[in-house]
Amino acid sequence: MSILVVGTVAFDSIETPSGSAERILGGSASYFAMGASFFAPVRIVGVIGRDFPDEYIDLFRRRGIDLEGLKRESGDTFHWRGRYHEDLNVRDTIELHLNVLSGFVPELPESYRDAEYVFLGNIDPEMQLEVLRQIRCLRLVACDTMDHWINNSLEALRRVLGKIEMLVVNDSEARLLSGESNIVRAARAILKMGPKTVLIKRGEYGVLQFSDSSIFAVPAYPLEEVFDPTGAGDSFAGGLFGHLARSGDPAERGLRRAIVYGSVVASFTVEDFGVERLKALSIEDIEERYRRFVALTDFQT
Ligand code: AMP
Repeated sequence: MSILVVGTVAFDSIETPSGSAERILGGSASYFAMGASFFAPVRIVGVIGRDFPDEYIDLFRRRGIDLEGLKRESGDTFHWRGRYHEDLNVRDTIELHLNVLSGFVPELPESYRDAEYVFLGNIDPEMQLEVLRQIRCLRLVACDTMDHWINNSLEALRRVLGKIEMLVVNDSEARLLSGESNIVRAARAILKMGPKTVLIKRGEYGVLQFSDSSIFAVPAYPLEEVFDPTGAGDSFAGGLFGHLARSGDPAERGLRRAIVYGSVVASFTVEDFGVERLKALSIEDIEERYRRFVALTDFQT
């Protein structure tokens, strides 16, 4: 079962308390695809500029990621510059250059249109809607977004929310979108906007999953050092979707396991800058940390 992701493929320039990196591979689709590629085939829909290096294309290829839907346009690649505070849950966007992304209209290759597992990564909600229009047989659609789109494209985002099963957002985005400061109330308000499941990412405090009938909580894997939190959310979604596609079981129990797999993949991502740690990872490493994760949360009732 293959997965389709639309999102940014970017250059990121990042400063964290542990160091900095200039123009490294980033973007919501890149992190998602890298995370999901350990479990199932992934196809990317996105756009890059002339300046995007072959080295990164080769990296995607080595992970078996299908790039037919990744367009190269004349112009520069999307570039994001961010700085993290001492509290790594807080970051500021210093620069955001949409470049080739502005005006991009996603066009899915014919071979992508039968996608069943679709992840609408963090990108303009109009582009997310355009992707949905072109897909024939949807089985599971999830979406991510961020403050930039909630503040600037709320109407289109509300239309996306009416069409998806699952929303994946962080806690501050959930508060902004719902207008509720309490996270449980925020999740309840978002469930009324359309999605059947809301996953709220809380950085080092883990993830909460809300549906009409249940709440599920997973901690973040405890790490002694976090180098760069960028991409934690996207690679979390990648691991989650990867496991869902691999198992074909999106019901409650399968979804809970998938949330733990997503948390495992995210825990590796933050151990180094950009996608460095994911590059060196194997599915065996993931399975081993999954078992440790189960032990971490195991207790007798
Ligand atoms: P995450 O840390 O998982 O929330 O996602 C970080 C990624 O989001 C970075 O690699 C950035 O390139 C990308 N990003 C930052 N701002 C935006 C934006 N406005 N739209 C889409 N992607 C963005």
